[in-house]
Amino acid sequence: MKSLSGEVFDVLVIGGGITGCGVARDAAMRGLRVALVERDDFASGTSGRSSRLVHGGIRYLENAQFHLVRESIRERQTLLRIAPHLVKPLAFTWPVYRGARIGKVKLSAGLLLYDLMASGRSRRHSALDVAATLEREPALRADDLTGGAVYYDAATDDTRLTLANAIAAREHGAVVVNHARVTSLLRDGHRGTLATVVSDTTTREVRARVVVNATGIWGNDFSSGARSERKRGSKGIHIAVARERIGNRDALTLISPADGRVMFCLPAGANAIIGTTDTWTTESPESVQAGAADVDYLIRSANAYFPRAALTRDDVISSWAGIRPLASGGAARPGRVSREHSIATADGVITVTGGKLTTYRSMAAEIVDAVERAMRRKPRAATTDSVPLPGADREAAVMKLQRTDPGLAAALVPGLPYTGADLVHAVREEMATTLSDLLIRRTHLAFETRDHGQSVSARAAEIVAPLLGWSENVKSARLRAYAHDVERIFTITPG
Ligand SMILES: Cc1cc2nc3c(=O)[nH]c(=O)nc-3n(C[C@H](O)[C@H](O)[C@H](O)COP(=O)(O)OP(=O)(O)OC[C@H]3O[C@@H](n4cnc5c(N)ncnc54)[C@H](O)[C@@H]3O)c2cc1C
Repeated sequence: MKSLSGEVFDVLVIGGGITGCGVARDAAMRGLRVALVERDDFASGTSGRSSRLVHGGIRYLENAQFHLVRESIRERQTLLRIAPHLVKPLAFTWPVYRGARIGKVKLSAGLLLYDLMASGRSRRHSALDVAATLEREPALRADDLTGGAVYYDAATDDTRLTLANAIAAREHGAVVVNHARVTSLLRDGHRGTLATVVSDTTTREVRARVVVNATGIWGNDFSSGARSERKRGSKGIHIAVARERIGNRDALTLISPADGRVMFCLPAGANAIIGTTDTWTTESPESVQAGAADVDYLIRSANAYFPRAALTRDDVISSWAGIRPLASGGAARPGRVSREHSIATADGVITVTGGKLTTYRSMAAEIVDAVERAMRRKPRAATTDSVPLPGADREAAVMKLQRTDPGLAAALVPGLPYTGADLVHAVREEMATTLSDLLIRRTHLAFETRDHGQSVSARAAEIVAPLLGWSENVKSARLRAYAHDVERIFTITPG
């Protein structure tokens, strides 16, 4: 917080989701003086609740959103190149059943177009007959299966992708602060904008020539100094179940028999993640939770494809919800609303709405162009598409810690890859300061265990307390705060 005072920043970015962190990296790489402020933690909002795909968006072809698909495919290739440690190719099997809304001919035509839009930069899809489909995914229902296809997109760790951008921004000189929120903006004539930034312990005034409001679904209207009327967004939930219960080998794209929507079943270590839903909501992004009806919808849909699994709610290891900030909407079903973004400038504040994780980098470039124009200078593109994102050496650094202190090498939870060394590294190098930062976002332990990391939170607190200077009282308060966050994020609400 201290580093925010005493200078005039070129740009203050409010919000540390993928949009804000991408903007901060791009602006810092252009040589601008940048401050980034995030009220909770990086990717604690929608950016940490995604399907974790960097994808061209095959389903957008149905809505003829060719521009978005072309941009997404290009960005997918860029991210595979600059962040191979975070964005990895993923093969999807798409099984087709008799009478399906998207039959074999339509699927082949769509995938051919998808390949053509990638202009040979991506592996081409292949059609599968029934035997080849079942060879890829033996647990699938065989009745009425007519064949399918395999095509290629990419998977990421949404939280780490966001964090890598925050760290890159910091490495390029940006002042990057989490756990502090902007409470008001005051336009100060030609001297720019004065922002009030509040953390648990202090309040600071920050002066910036231009402000980027990247608060997404929070939709703060800082001009009035208050939050505007709650924005409508599209709620999406996911559930995690043990992969051995479903039996999927790889990723699958499925059409829900309940309503014909495209959904995914994705491998995530020992678990499979099933998602997502797409329903309008005005719920608060801070407290949005998966509802029982949505959970049942995903279970029903998965069971239709994997009948031997006979999943029930008892199989759900965790479930969570996020809200998509959509740039437009009207009366359309949210699934049909474009994932493109909009950028609006008023009174020195540039507000961005909508977008996708996949296209964050090109969107950030567009926003920083608008920042430079607001500063009355000619935009100069940064090399964000060729400079690697940081973090490729993380694993080696964690292993070195484990060698130096073997006490940090044991798994925090048997069967999961997280150790004390991951926590120490996260505190020292990755701006983690709370147990939720550590167990929900720097590791995904909370998503991958039935008790959401509660049984190891005390041990985690013991490991990081000396690094963070926690007394016994602070440790207890941090454990209570963690239990509260777990309840806030992972409870399934009735209805
Ligand atoms: C269910 C679901 C699945 C999705 N799957 C995918 C996918 O697979 N691939 C893909 O490309 N996209 C996907 N998306 C879309 C993608 O996740 C979002 O477009 C993206 O994460 C939005 O990022 P953001 O930075 O705009 O918003 P957020 O991540 O919500 O960031 C906004 C940040 O602003 C902070 N903030 C709010 N108020 C203040 C304040 N006053 N001061 C400081 N900070 C503040 C919040 O704490 C928050 O961290 C999915 C979305 C959902 C909901």
